[in-house]
Amino acid sequence: MKNFTIIAMLLLSLGVVSVIPFSDAAEANQICIDKVWIENSKGKIACVIPTTADKLVQRGWGTLLDDVTPVDESLTGLEKELTLLSEHDGGVGPLTITPIIGETTKQYFEFYIPGTEELDENEMRIFACGTGSPWVMIGQAASCFLLQTADGHNLIFDLGGGSVGNLNTLGIPGNEMTHVFASHLHVDHIGGLPTFWGQAFMMGRSAPIELYGPSGPDEHLGTSAFVDGFMENWAWDLESKRGEAPKSVHQINVHEFDYSVTQVVYEKDGLTVTSFPAVHAIDGPVSYRIDWNGMSVIYSGDTTLNDFLLENSMNVDVLILQVSPSAEQMSRLFGFSPELATKLTSHVHIAPEAAGVAFYVTQPRLPVIFHMNLFDDEIVPDAYTNIRKYYDDPVVIAQDRTVINVTPDYAVIRQAQVDPLTTPAYTPFGEIDEEKVYFFSDWLEESIVDVEQLKQEIDDGKK
Ligand SMILES: [Zn+2]
Ligand SMILES: [Zn+2]
Repeated sequence: MKNFTIIAMLLLSLGVVSVIPFSDAAEANQICIDKVWIENSKGKIACVIPTTADKLVQRGWGTLLDDVTPVDESLTGLEKELTLLSEHDGGVGPLTITPIIGETTKQYFEFYIPGTEELDENEMRIFACGTGSPWVMIGQAASCFLLQTADGHNLIFDLGGGSVGNLNTLGIPGNEMTHVFASHLHVDHIGGLPTFWGQAFMMGRSAPIELYGPSGPDEHLGTSAFVDGFMENWAWDLESKRGEAPKSVHQINVHEFDYSVTQVVYEKDGLTVTSFPAVHAIDGPVSYRIDWNGMSVIYSGDTTLNDFLLENSMNVDVLILQVSPSAEQMSRLFGFSPELATKLTSHVHIAPEAAGVAFYVTQPRLPVIFHMNLFDDEIVPDAYTNIRKYYDDPVVIAQDRTVINVTPDYAVIRQAQVDPLTTPAYTPFGEIDEEKVYFFSDWLEESIVDVEQLKQEIDDGKK
């Protein structure tokens, strides 16, 4: 991958820009994450990183598409807010009309560039590593939020499919990002675990994964049983690497707790993670509350609106709430019957209007919603309009790589600008502490080509 980046950079520096795919689309109607639209002389458009766009414009290959229409000054209220939101749809900026809440005491760049900002001692950073649903898109992974504190906590809440790629863009060394809190065992919340587990061999994470997760209505539906099955399913992967790295690389330490009890499930250096029951699909799911430095964050996981959630979320600093499209949108988008769409939004998930009610009742400093696939132009305006029926204060619609800095005095909401080809930060392994068990059969071993010998024969023949 590194070589590819170098080649791409070389091509650009040489002025060879044919590697940029201009599409046949007539207008910029697709999602262009963390990039900008540019149009060439034939009217074709491409979504490129800003530095590439600059080079292309300098060389006269294209012009920047001005897809940000100035907001009509005569607009007011909801109409104005929806217009402002539409400017940032697609990861260009954060999906909120209030990117700064409170008075900031330090300067922030417009975008968050991983590795370039230290946290102040009273500051935490929330990174949306996945904001979608089971339906994973390149522009939107399934559920995942990373919470970082100034004193070094890096806690992952859910690890849905596709989210590991987002986490890797942060370049956090493997041994410093090992704690995963699963809200429940739906694939869109834990489907990234095989990748997170398996990539350790390449990235040099030698500390085991510490997986926190709920019990289930039956023993075989709990997190411990899930990890036992996981290890059985990945036995070949495990054996193929045994003896090549310390065994801790492949270890998952499970911390299963009773889903039905509100209790502290993790505590370190003054930070606590409390689990409380969520109401979603069948028994087992939980929501989490994190308390650190006098601030509190709720990560709801998947749930429908319930008493536990309201009680634990009162006046929290950040309420990260799972919200689905409204029943009308679910029917329109997926062809669900009105009955099924209503059930999904009122008994399995939280509909936007109910989210507005939850925010009105709990009055968080910053409400954040996630779990809507943002592929359709009507989803955001519909959700926002429905939330606004009950709640007038700031709301953030999380997109992948939305970054929220929070201190007791203010919150700053931005998008990260990342290098999509960033590799995980590598940490060298410690001592290898186990022996390889499986080897090639002799007949496979014997079939391995002696490349040196073959090269010699080819070289000799050329003489
Ligand atoms: Zn779920
Ligand atoms: Zn889900």
